[in-house]
Amino acid sequence: MRRSIIAANWKLNASRSMVDTFMPAVDAQASASGNTDIVICPPYPYLDLVGQKVQASNLHIGGQTMSLEKEGAFTGEVSADMLRDVGCRYVILGHSEQRRYHADSDISIGTKMVTALRAGLTPIVCIGESLQQRKEDKAESTIMRQLGALLALGRWVDLSDLVIAYEPIWAIGTGETASPEQAQAMHAYIRAELTKSRAQLADTVRVLYGGSVNPDNAAKLFAQTDIDGGLIGGASLQADSFNQIITAV
Ligand code: PEP
Repeated sequence: MRRSIIAANWKLNASRSMVDTFMPAVDAQASASGNTDIVICPPYPYLDLVGQKVQASNLHIGGQTMSLEKEGAFTGEVSADMLRDVGCRYVILGHSEQRRYHADSDISIGTKMVTALRAGLTPIVCIGESLQQRKEDKAESTIMRQLGALLALGRWVDLSDLVIAYEPIWAIGTGETASPEQAQAMHAYIRAELTKSRAQLADTVRVLYGGSVNPDNAAKLFAQTDIDGGLIGGASLQADSFNQIITAV
């Protein structure tokens, strides 16, 4: 049985006062939802503050991305070991905004995934097609390419702890959500591709849905067989809506 995960991607949003009000409320909800892993991914400067406010054993912190490099002259970068050192259990990799604005590629993301796993972090690797690719009937081939790179680069590594987030780019921050049926179809496809590569991965790799999940649509999405939880952007910024999403899973 795969444990469900609800992960908050705060992107470039946070303040001390937001953390002060958000964390006690979400920590209490986490304690009441012991069968779900809850992950908060704030901007780097707030990781420590968020971490200090965690009491529930199923509430964790994670980075929003990380460097390919371990240390040295890489201004502005943060390594996997540093994330571990400040208490992170998770790291989001390959978010479409990182692919778009910071030139993350299938190869760099796969390499980061291996580095993260070796450092003891659980990577939440985002994959997803653009609207154009969906319209051109290239959604599955895009996913196959992105997943294929991960599986190829990770072939010598234990991937059982991997988390995949299926995030159709056209649904991120747009208010437009994939229907539960569309999302389930893609999640089933992802699971089938994982199984083809290594049979045991189908039962261990958790596949999250991301893209305009909110308290109104969460329950129907999470009721789908192959959806193991969600990666939440906008609706993770208020404790109230985030807690409702946790309850929905
Ligand atoms: C995201 O950016 O990972 C995301 C899912 O955002 P939103 O929920 O705002 O669409």
